Amino acid sequence: MNAGDRNIKRCVSCDGFGWFEDDFSGETEDCDWCAGAGYVYRDAQGRDRPIPQSDYAAVAADLERLDLERLREMGYQGQALKPWQQAIRKDTQLGRDPYRDDGDA
Ligand SMILES: [Zn+2]
Repeated sequence: MNAGDRNIKRCVSCDGFGWFEDDFSGETEDCDWCAGAGYVYRDAQGRDRPIPQSDYAAVAADLERLDLERLREMGYQGQALKPWQQAIRKDTQLGRDPYRDDGDA
């Protein structure tokens, strides 16, 4: 397992949020492009594909780093919360703590 080999990019569809908010209803919906992760794998041909949920634990550190970069771009100065610690992702795939099952918290 070498997550460093994977080319992980911020999802172009939801800009890393992993979800959309409906302007009219106020309801949120997971992004189809990245399956709610906010990030995708980009292959050598420049095609994006969702990060499989089974890979989340392996790429968690990368996602956390990318999320921290994203938050800094938005002017957030504090410590980044892990996706599963963010209330906003509570009901998305990333809302589940990938470490909970293997005891590597
Ligand atoms: Zn997305």
